Amino acid sequence: MTENDRMISVDEAIRIILSEVKPTPEESAPILDSVGRVLSRDIVSDVNIPPTDNSAMDGYALKHESTRSATGNSPAELVVCGEIRAGSVYSGPDVAEGFAVRIMTGAPIPDGADAVVPVEDTLEAQGKVRVLCEFQSGENIRRAGEDIAAGMTVLSAGHRIRPADIGLLASLNRIEAPVRRRPVVAIIATGDELVDPGEEIGPGQIRNSNAYALYAEILKYGAIPRYLGIARDTMQDTFEKFKQAFEADIVITTGGVSMGKYDFVKDVMRDIGVGISVRKILMKPGKPLVFGAKDGKLCFGLPGNPVSSLVSFLQFVRPAILKSMGARSIDKPVVNAVLLEDIRKKPERRHFIRGFFSIRNGELVVSTTGPQGSGILMSMSQANCLIILKEGVSLLRAGDRVPVQLINHEEI
Ligand code: AMP
Ligand code: MG
Repeated sequence: MTENDRMISVDEAIRIILSEVKPTPEESAPILDSVGRVLSRDIVSDVNIPPTDNSAMDGYALKHESTRSATGNSPAELVVCGEIRAGSVYSGPDVAEGFAVRIMTGAPIPDGADAVVPVEDTLEAQGKVRVLCEFQSGENIRRAGEDIAAGMTVLSAGHRIRPADIGLLASLNRIEAPVRRRPVVAIIATGDELVDPGEEIGPGQIRNSNAYALYAEILKYGAIPRYLGIARDTMQDTFEKFKQAFEADIVITTGGVSMGKYDFVKDVMRDIGVGISVRKILMKPGKPLVFGAKDGKLCFGLPGNPVSSLVSFLQFVRPAILKSMGARSIDKPVVNAVLLEDIRKKPERRHFIRGFFSIRNGELVVSTTGPQGSGILMSMSQANCLIILKEGVSLLRAGDRVPVQLINHEEI
C-alpha cells in the first residue's frame, strides 16, 4: 500500500478537513435575510425590554391596598379616574388609594399604582369598579428590563440565528445583523451516464440525483449552492468544470473518485494544484472521498453513489460549511437508542446505517430503514438518524444500545 492509498478514520478526516477551514468575511445582513446565518459579533442590548413597567393584563391599575379584604360578597369599590391604552402614557394625578385607572395589556403602569387587577375579577358600572378579590403588590405587572436588561449580551458570536432571535434583534431595533458571508458552494456532477431531470433519457443512462440532493443540503445549512452541471468522464471536461468552480469558496464533485478507468476527479484536483490530504476513509458508505485545499478554497470529491454522497456530505462538508460561516455548534447530536434488530458488519470500518428512531415508553428505539446498499436512496429518504457502528464492532443484537446521530436535528 502506498501513502496515497492510506485510509484514515472518520475522526481524523474531520480533523484534517476542519483544520483547512477559514471563516468567510463579515458583513451585515438585513435581519429578515439572516435566519440560519451565523452572528460574527456579540449582540449587546443598549435598552431595557420592556422599556417601562407595564400591564400584563387588560384590567385596572391600582394600589394593592385598595383591594384589602375584598371578596365576591364584599367587593372593594374604587373610583375609575382614567384610562391608559397600549402605546400611550397616563398624564393624570398619581393613583391614590380608592382609585383605579382602566389599563390595557402593554400600557405603562401609572405612577402610584403597584398592581393590576384583571377585568375578569371586576365589575364596572357608573364610573366605579368593584374588585372581587385581594391583590398583592406587583401582581400582573411586567417589570422594565425583565426580558432584557440594558448591557446584557443577548446573543453571542458564533450563534446560528433562529426565528426567535430575529424577534430579539427587532426588539433591539436592529434592522441588520453582523454575520459572516454565506459561502458559495459549487456542485459538479460527474458521469457519462447522467441526465438531468427534465431532459430526455436514453438506454444505459440514469438521472442525476446527487447534484439536486446536495443543492438542497447546501441551502439547508445556509450556504449558496451553484450547480455547474455534469462533467463527462474525460480529463478535459472535468478540468473545465473545475476551472469554473474555483469562483466558489467550496467545490463539491460527486462520482469519479473510485478505482474506475474513467474516474478523473483526483487526477484533475492534483493537476489543478489542490493539496490533497484525504483520499480514503475507513467508513461505509463513503470510503472514497478526496479532500484538499487550494488558496483557502476547499475541494471535496464525494463518492458517486447517492447514499454515500449524502452521508459524506453530512459528516464532512456540512461541518466545514458551518465552520466557515463561523458557527460554534457544528456537531449533530448523538444519543443512545435501543436497537430493535440484529446488525452484522465487518469490523474494519465505521458504518453509518440509515435508521429510524422513535420513542417507546419514554425511551429512544431505533430500527434500520431497510436495504442499506449505497445506491438505495430510499434508505436515506426514510431515515431520521444514522446508526453509528464503530470500528472494531462486528455484531450488534436487538436490545443493545447504539449511538445514533440525529440528522434532522440542529447542531449542538
Ligand atoms: P462512480 O464513482 O462515478 O463510479 O459512481 C458510483 C455510482 O454512483 C455509479 O453507479 C453512478 O452511476 C452513480 N452516480 C454517480 N453520480 C451520480 C449522480 N450525480 N446521481 C445519481 N447517481 C450517480
Ligand atoms: Mg462515474
